[in-house]
Amino acid sequence: METLTDCIFCQILAGKKPARMVYQDETVAALEDIRPQAPVHLLVIPRRHLNSLREVSEEDEAVLGHLLSVASQLARERKIEAQGYRVVINNGNWAGQTVDHLHLHVLGGRVFHWPPG
Ligand code: 5GP
Ligand code: ZN
Repeated sequence: METLTDCIFCQILAGKKPARMVYQDETVAALEDIRPQAPVHLLVIPRRHLNSLREVSEEDEAVLGHLLSVASQLARERKIEAQGYRVVINNGNWAGQTVDHLHLHVLGGRVFHWPPG
């Protein structure tokens, strides 16, 4: 499993940096965002380091699907499913990506607008 020593999320996954983990399995993990932008703001991340969606290939399809499946499961558990929630993946500078380890934002508990800022 690739682990980047200077990657915040790899450090969290390795237990070297504290985080409020809310879900873990063999391939993905989910944690509370440190600066929540909504009443519910979770990050779902693959254990294997991928910079962003720009680097994925066919071999990553299973984990990409699993990330979404876990996002859906967590939304149900957090009771944001009925009213609606947003799943966001920022990829690269113009999209506002600040941590270069692929992550799904799961946001809920308030109204979101479109188009996003
Ligand atoms: P991005 O801007 O890359 O799409 O999202 C990165 C997210 O990671 C931000 O929402 C930011 O608040 C969150 N974040 C950055 N550093 C940490 C950290 O050390 N722990 C946790 N739990 N979240 C972090
Ligand atoms: Zn990483």
